[in-house]
Amino acid sequence: MSTSLLYHGFGLIGYTYVRTAYEEGNMIFTIKHRRDKLYCPECGSRDLVLRGCSRRRFRMVPIGSKVIFLDLDVQRVACKRCETVRQVELRFADSRFSYTRAFERYVLELSKHMTILDVARHLHVSWDTMKDIQKRYLTKKFSHPSLKDLRYMAIDEIAVRKGHQYLTVVLDLESGAVIFVGDGKGTEALDPFWKRLNRSRAMVEAAAIDMSPAYMNAVMSHLHGATIVFDHFHVVKLFNDKLSDLRRDLYREAKDHLQKNVLKGTRWLLLKRPDHLDEKKREKERLDEALRLNQPLYTAYQN
Ligand SMILES: [Zn+2]
Repeated sequence: MSTSLLYHGFGLIGYTYVRTAYEEGNMIFTIKHRRDKLYCPECGSRDLVLRGCSRRRFRMVPIGSKVIFLDLDVQRVACKRCETVRQVELRFADSRFSYTRAFERYVLELSKHMTILDVARHLHVSWDTMKDIQKRYLTKKFSHPSLKDLRYMAIDEIAVRKGHQYLTVVLDLESGAVIFVGDGKGTEALDPFWKRLNRSRAMVEAAAIDMSPAYMNAVMSHLHGATIVFDHFHVVKLFNDKLSDLRRDLYREAKDHLQKNVLKGTRWLLLKRPDHLDEKKREKERLDEALRLNQPLYTAYQN
């Protein structure tokens, strides 16, 4: 290990290599600040008085399966120009956390290919650390995208853990980007989103939503003049459910009139588009017959 390797191998600029230690199978590199590279974090001045250090340890990207730590006495400085006393900035890490930025990037990269638990085990880090890294990344990426150009949006609820925890997600339908993630479900989950949308002065033209009345009211009261588009999936599902109900009712009725063989097997015909019905198989005839016998079914089919 050398100062040159610190720079080229780990991207640590402005430090001098001190020593390498081995503890319980882990490697610990100790580095120190270079006096000539210190500057005031407030104003950038190099006219400083040193005011003591505090020892910090950071997780680094591993070498193979070896866990690597970096020890540094983080310098406090008093600035003669702006008269503040502060800890100097570390470019390689956010001083609030116990790992380097490179380690954080490594975790996120691995997370694309492995589960969070796998990454945690592989790197010997706690589940909580993993969660924090993920959460910060997602917050940074998705919390404040610009909304001013938003024109078409969709709102949906997703269950995070089977049937227990919900998130309300807003999508920009043009870019496909997630523009808001709210905790829970229902209209309250969207309150912060409406505030942001309001400030952005976006002119939303259409919103695709879930069909619950709560959403309809929320959207109508916040998106003046926008067209509400019922989410295709929900419309189709609702329609199919209705059709199945109707068919069941009709089948029960038909049974009483000994016409069951006509209606049996017509559901899939009903769900087919009229112009896709197969002439040879007498599908059209069978469907017409079924529909003639049942005026309500016919009405539902046409609508
Ligand atoms: Zn200063």
